[in-house]
Amino acid sequence: RMDLDVARSKQRAAQQRSAVAMHRVKVSALVRVMPLSIGESQHLRVLRLGIGTEVRVFDGQGGEASATLVRLDEGGAMLELGEAVVNDRETPQPVTLGVALLKGDKLSDVVRAATELGVSTVQLLQTRHADVQGIGDQKLLRLRRIAAEASKQSRRAVTPEVLAPIVLTHLTLNGQGFLAHPGSTERLTDTLHWETPVTLVSGPEGGFADAEVAALTALGFTAITLGPRILRAETAPLALLGALAATGV
Ligand code: SAM
Repeated sequence: RMDLDVARSKQRAAQQRSAVAMHRVKVSALVRVMPLSIGESQHLRVLRLGIGTEVRVFDGQGGEASATLVRLDEGGAMLELGEAVVNDRETPQPVTLGVALLKGDKLSDVVRAATELGVSTVQLLQTRHADVQGIGDQKLLRLRRIAAEASKQSRRAVTPEVLAPIVLTHLTLNGQGFLAHPGSTERLTDTLHWETPVTLVSGPEGGFADAEVAALTALGFTAITLGPRILRAETAPLALLGALAATGV
């Protein structure tokens, strides 16, 4: 009986290892036969995957399954759908990160890390003291590509949405809302719970205007501290999300 238990646990460990090593492919929908994009096909060729190789497919909306490579040549690649796989890597409630527009390429790092840390939506925000007031279409597409790539890497079946900027005070609140604001005394972990969706907001390098803090507080957001040090605008969102991740969800 003990031998059987040991054998089973070894088999389970081997299955988990192979699932971790399995190549992940993002597809637009989980359907019986899935032709792949040219880029993804080339990638599979570089990896020298053979016909019959099992891979994981996910649709970015939470659906994941095993699939088999049935064609790989100059004309492209094709996968055949296998069994559905349960992917339980999502937080108990959706988490939205509201982040002020930042200069240069800083948002790329924020979106990548936020995806790894489990957000379901990144809402870009126009704020009064921002260095930049808008974002070009190409840059927005790039952020969405980064979210797709990071969801693949972090083995999520969900790709967070990256939403075009809105004015901060047009944010709405569904569930709990927290606004990182230096000098606040409330702490995120004192009131956070996992019974309703969570929205976390962090500001631009120049900080929030008083009127913005007042508007969000009136909406039901709680201003919270991230400690006595001043974090850069690209560090603060990660500190917020790191606090959620540290609850072990
Ligand atoms: N002088 C600005 C101020 O007082 O708000 C500093 C802004 S800080 C560089 C950029 C953003 O990171 C802030 O708007 C806030 O959202 C967040 N942040 C940075 N350090 C923080 C802290 N210690 N507590 C709470 N939020 C912080």
